Amino acid sequence: MNDPLPLFVADPDQVAARGQALAPQQWAWYDQVQPLAAAGDPDLIAALTTTLATVSAAIDCTTCGRCCRQMGPQVEAAEAAALAAALGLQPELFRRGFLRPLWPAAAEDEQVWLLPSPCPLHDGLLCTVYAARPRPCRDFPQAAGQTPAAHLGQLVEFARICPIAFNTVEQVRQRVKGPA
Ligand code: SF4
Ligand code: SF4
Repeated sequence: MNDPLPLFVADPDQVAARGQALAPQQWAWYDQVQPLAAAGDPDLIAALTTTLATVSAAIDCTTCGRCCRQMGPQVEAAEAAALAAALGLQPELFRRGFLRPLWPAAAEDEQVWLLPSPCPLHDGLLCTVYAARPRPCRDFPQAAGQTPAAHLGQLVEFARICPIAFNTVEQVRQRVKGPA
């Protein structure tokens, strides 16, 4: 049994309100601990990793969907093909109908695409292409290849949208202080 969570807000509307109210304190804390994150401080990284796992297990994303409604993920070419297949569409038709290029002048085989926000593949309750969702959706509120400092900054940034990010930041903020 895990320790009881000192502060836990699962409701996305409450997270939006409390996240806005706590943003100055959260960013002030980020400024304090960012040097620890940049140095790869093992206590901070362990606290982030274990708290993120505990909080993620306690939040039901199917009752939230805020990331799908408020963000447009990047989609690699192979992911676009997988999404098109999941929808039973030709890749070209899917790209023209659902995606926009991140770099309009780039060659098609080098292109990265963006889904718009809110995501048209969300039906209001769930992702309609869950098994084929692109990497940023799978990783959120983390992102692949981030440094610990960037990861921490992303969690603080998304603490106004995502209950997982909000509760992770609040719990780690109570446990880890910056250098004296
Ligand atoms: S592809 Fe699915 S998981 Fe990703 S933003 Fe759209 S609805 Fe959400
Ligand atoms: S990842 Fe965060 S914002 Fe997205 S559905 Fe889950 S709790 Fe909500």
